Amino acid sequence: MSRGGYQPPDPIEVPPLYAWPPRPLATLRWITTGLLFPWGLLFIALAVVAWNYLTPSLERMASLEVGWMALIWLRNAALLTLVAGGLHWWLYIRRAQDQAYMFNTRWLDTENRKFLFRNQARDNMFWSLVSGCTVWSFYESLTLWAYAEDRIPRVEWGDAPIYLAVMTIAVFFWSTLHFYLNHRLLHWPPLYRAAHELHHRNINIGPWTGISMHPLEHVIYFSVFFLWWVVPVHPVIVILTGFYQGISPAVSHSGFEQVVIGRRFRVTAGDHFHQLHHRYFEVNYGNTPTPVDRLFGTWHDGTSEAHEALKNRRLARHRQGRSSLGA
Ligand SMILES: [Zn+2]
Ligand SMILES: [Zn+2]
Repeated sequence: MSRGGYQPPDPIEVPPLYAWPPRPLATLRWITTGLLFPWGLLFIALAVVAWNYLTPSLERMASLEVGWMALIWLRNAALLTLVAGGLHWWLYIRRAQDQAYMFNTRWLDTENRKFLFRNQARDNMFWSLVSGCTVWSFYESLTLWAYAEDRIPRVEWGDAPIYLAVMTIAVFFWSTLHFYLNHRLLHWPPLYRAAHELHHRNINIGPWTGISMHPLEHVIYFSVFFLWWVVPVHPVIVILTGFYQGISPAVSHSGFEQVVIGRRFRVTAGDHFHQLHHRYFEVNYGNTPTPVDRLFGTWHDGTSEAHEALKNRRLARHRQGRSSLGA
């Protein structure tokens, strides 16, 4: 089942936040380590830097113009390239840790006609930068323009620091809940064939696979920004939403559970939960912070028991199909 690749020793568990009776200490530990450290904190820091130094002024953004929107695209493309390109270079070009912690022992395809340019990494880069980054930057620009035009009320950090801190954490829950909902929709057969199939060409995945999607899927996927049209926050939270939605998939799709740097340093990276979705398609539509899959019986925790259950569900469906054909 592990196809010879790395198999994490523990089953994937529902976060303690959802435990009953409540487990406040474990929840706090999970939020600070599982949810935020290190990538979540990095994206928060990047969003603060981007808002202060890498975003055009609100005066300039008050009118919708290609010039400043292109700058936002450039900033997002550069940061995505830094993270996805950096991981790809370290893990797949330099092969710095060979196959340690690699979920699937196959390297990315370099001669396969199902990918653009017959090359999986180039195909993935193309869809991520040309379509993904463009749709993401467009939604972000539109939302920032709405702030500049005073179409959305803005909350200042000095006025409501606790509210904004809570909304900063809420980004991670909103993004993953939105992902479950839009992803479930994308598995509806007509939409799957029209759009989502392109992301699933990648059974084996790498950092650039993260937002390698069909443009129609990008339009649905990045609609995550619309929450901030009705819930007032600060623009830095809008930028964070873009970074989490646009850049974190490069980390979760890296294909390696841990990135090893030197002898002592390891960083958690690849998301085993989503890796299983790429392998089996009909499980793990969401992400672990918002465990909706658990409610609907599509939670695959990576164990052989979960795999047996999936096989039995498939077999039962197959038999049912055959008996209804016979009837
Ligand atoms: Zn994916
Ligand atoms: Zn899918």
